[in-house]
Amino acid sequence: MKTLSHTSPADAASTARPNARIAALPEPPAWVEIDLTALRNNLGLIRRELPPGVGWIDVIKDNAYGHGAREVASEALRAGALALAVVTVREAAELREAGFRQPILVLGERFPEELESCLALGAMPSIGEARILDALEKLADRLPGGPFPVHLKVDTGMNRHGVRWEAAPAMARRIAVHPRLELAGVYSHFAMSDEADQTFARLQIERFNRFLAELEASGIRPGLRHMANSGGFLQLPQAHYDAVRIGLLPLGVYPSAVCRRLTGLRQVMSVRSRLVSVRTLRAGETYGYGLRYRAQTDRRIGIVPLGYGVGYPRLVNQGAVLVRGRRAPLIGSVAMDALAVDVTDIPGIAPGEEVTLLGRQGDVEINARELAGWAGTVCYDVLTCWSERLPRRYVRPPVEASPPAAP
Ligand SMILES: *Cc1c(COP(=O)(O)O)cnc(C)c1O
Repeated sequence: MKTLSHTSPADAASTARPNARIAALPEPPAWVEIDLTALRNNLGLIRRELPPGVGWIDVIKDNAYGHGAREVASEALRAGALALAVVTVREAAELREAGFRQPILVLGERFPEELESCLALGAMPSIGEARILDALEKLADRLPGGPFPVHLKVDTGMNRHGVRWEAAPAMARRIAVHPRLELAGVYSHFAMSDEADQTFARLQIERFNRFLAELEASGIRPGLRHMANSGGFLQLPQAHYDAVRIGLLPLGVYPSAVCRRLTGLRQVMSVRSRLVSVRTLRAGETYGYGLRYRAQTDRRIGIVPLGYGVGYPRLVNQGAVLVRGRRAPLIGSVAMDALAVDVTDIPGIAPGEEVTLLGRQGDVEINARELAGWAGTVCYDVLTCWSERLPRRYVRPPVEASPPAAP
């Protein structure tokens, strides 16, 4: 049996005594549903796809792409993830605060003043610039404890973070020979891994391989070698190395329209609301701001109490929501706190009717790709866009009598 629970990031942030008056409010007008059963299913599928000897680092940056970092981290670790990856030291601190003791990799480049708290948390910074390594060496010399594990970030063509591949062996050596630092891993990141044209990805792999070969030739142990994001995991098996570094795929969303599909993968996030009003628009009348929609005939329209203020894309006469397992087209322009849909063809619709803006309802689905297409953006964006003011409602897998088998 599935159980529902209700938490929002604000709950965790608030002080010891939860606000009883807020807790006693009726159902929220809109919410984000996170199906942890689907997440568990997806992680199982992914684990089965990984070749022997290849693990995965679960990327839970940006509150696990809006799904809740703690909840996703728990499932990922339960399924056997080697480590968690975030992009800020604060995210690492929140995980430690929540009791996670597993390895945490902090992606991206650090400001020098962040290094000390990063090491103090036992989180592994990514080092990709000589001046940051200078600061890190000095810090490591004066801090108690250690050696401190770090990952070297190698730029193979993304030109965002990391040391250029030609200069990377020297940096790796500096880390490896420093008595208070440990080279726990080396990694690179694809600029394009999920499209049909793999030319650039192959060039990046070649550069990374050249770097790895140089390390080997000079006897430097690289630690964990990793390169592939979700696209690379699906499309580029020659870049799996020791681990893949994936965030999107466990959430049941593909990074592109053309990449390989995994049978049985299910989208974890849904966004739902309820019609707050159902009304008639007479022929010739308009709906909403800018008079962007004009009814040709009498229409029944439903008002959804949510808009771009909580992250829904600002669509105009485009897109749809699901009502009673059918598509109801959006009309007019999405406002900050409301949008309208045409329910003329769906009989018996009254206020209070549940509406799905993202996700599955019955046999139909609006997946992240479709919503992103309407909005002219990428799937990542229509997962991370939802305001923390939309409560997260978790669908939890049944509690098992016995602990899961070790991976
Ligand atoms: C976000 C991120 C990932 C995960 O990418 P997905 O496409 O979500 O799997 C991996 N590596 C780095 C450096 C990232 O920033």
